[in-house]
Amino acid sequence: MNEQTIRQKLTESGLRVTYPRLALIAELQRNETPRSAAELSATLTQFPRSSIYRNLEALEETNLIKSSMLKWVRRYELGDELVPHHHHLTCTQCGAVTQFDSPKLERQLVNAAQAKNYQLLSHVVELRGLCRICSGQPIASASMLSQSINTMKRLRPADPIMEKLKHEDHYLPFTGEDEPSEKP
Ligand SMILES: [Zn+2]
Ligand SMILES: [Zn+2]
Repeated sequence: MNEQTIRQKLTESGLRVTYPRLALIAELQRNETPRSAAELSATLTQFPRSSIYRNLEALEETNLIKSSMLKWVRRYELGDELVPHHHHLTCTQCGAVTQFDSPKLERQLVNAAQAKNYQLLSHVVELRGLCRICSGQPIASASMLSQSINTMKRLRPADPIMEKLKHEDHYLPFTGEDEPSEKP
């Protein structure tokens, strides 16, 4: 996405094209990992912190960016207006963030809302677990398929690693009012 496209998206969203807005979008585009306002402010030092916060708010209202709570901190990324819809897997140990998308999941969310007579407008889905490194898997030793099967086996709640982590502070950060159960 080049600057011309970003300018166009801002205008279409009814926002004035300003340097802080262009810079924020470019910065979020540069790095796929969701970033906190403090991190963005530390990178974009040419703008006052208040301007960063104000513009994040304006951009989020128009869905050009979106935010979610990851590890107790609100983090921003490009919104569905600018990048294809997706979700994140977060490693509860090292904080690594990986994107994924699932058309099947999206359909099921719509169906779940419809079953309760709701028209789904938005949703938040975040998966938490241990990345390949933190779950101790060897790098590129087996085929991708057997690796992901191994990951699933390792992440069963009954797994000793998971049992141990339940008792550590950094495990399962509280990210909202509806904290998902640890048990399947
Ligand atoms: Zn990790
Ligand atoms: Zn989704």
